[in-house]
Amino acid sequence: MQPLYQGKFSGHYLDAYGTAFGALPVAAQYAFALVFGLVIGSFLTVVVHRLPIMLERAWKAESTPIGEEPAQGRYNLAVPRSACPHCGHVLRAWENIPVVSYLLLRGRCAQCKAPVSPRYPLTELTTALLAAVSLYAFGPTLIALAAFGLCAALLVMSLIDFDTRYLPDSLTLPLLWAGLIVNLGSAGFVPIHEAVIGAIAGYLFLWCVYWLFRLVRGVEGMGYGDFKLLAALGAWLGWQALPQIVLLSALAGAIFGLTATGIGKMRFEEPLPFGPFLAAGGAITLFFGTPLYALFGG
Ligand SMILES: [Zn+2]
Repeated sequence: MQPLYQGKFSGHYLDAYGTAFGALPVAAQYAFALVFGLVIGSFLTVVVHRLPIMLERAWKAESTPIGEEPAQGRYNLAVPRSACPHCGHVLRAWENIPVVSYLLLRGRCAQCKAPVSPRYPLTELTTALLAAVSLYAFGPTLIALAAFGLCAALLVMSLIDFDTRYLPDSLTLPLLWAGLIVNLGSAGFVPIHEAVIGAIAGYLFLWCVYWLFRLVRGVEGMGYGDFKLLAALGAWLGWQALPQIVLLSALAGAIFGLTATGIGKMRFEEPLPFGPFLAAGGAITLFFGTPLYALFGG
């Protein structure tokens, strides 16, 4: 398995930072990546839980009549401190260590013994794995850090979309800008013009599909967040990546949808959150390039 982009980034001026990291023994690099991934993953679980609540509160505050105070305390990604949703027990430092605390507490609250969702350690482990894979695919470079940033953002958006059927602008739009910035200059994943065209084409393509479905069948299969997510993926990976991402995600979505209806977990008419599939298609393309095109002689 030869990642598409491997070798492309060595010797670049931005890798001055990467070189210092690269001077560490390989085992130390991976150990660092895994621990870094666990810590970031722990933060991601907070974002997944709190961002939808913050957005809902902001939305409610805006619709509160002037003169009336919305009756809510401060709530953001840092405040209040993490607490058990059942008994309100505020987590002490040792109860807040990624994965380790979950294992030590055997997946239960230290006070009321209510079960803690395994999603927390699973998200942390997945993030750690993505950090290690980024290091493996791109070497000890800044571009590996960028790739990991993209993966972390995709993971957060997938989980939020899965929970709420909503992809917040406050995530999709910064991801789009970040993709354009990463590809400025010659150190990015693709030349900047391919990134710009990718952003435009990504949005327009799903926008067209959306309106086609609406006009022909009168159904809304997707939300505007999906257009923005594909635009962001186009900004990161270039327009050439888009057909593969769309194909992979449509295929995965169809298989998942049919399986879920088949085993009675979903009704056929129920809309599927498309974000997780787009994100998966994007992550596969990030690490494996576009092998799908070889099937078509590309
Ligand atoms: Zn509790």
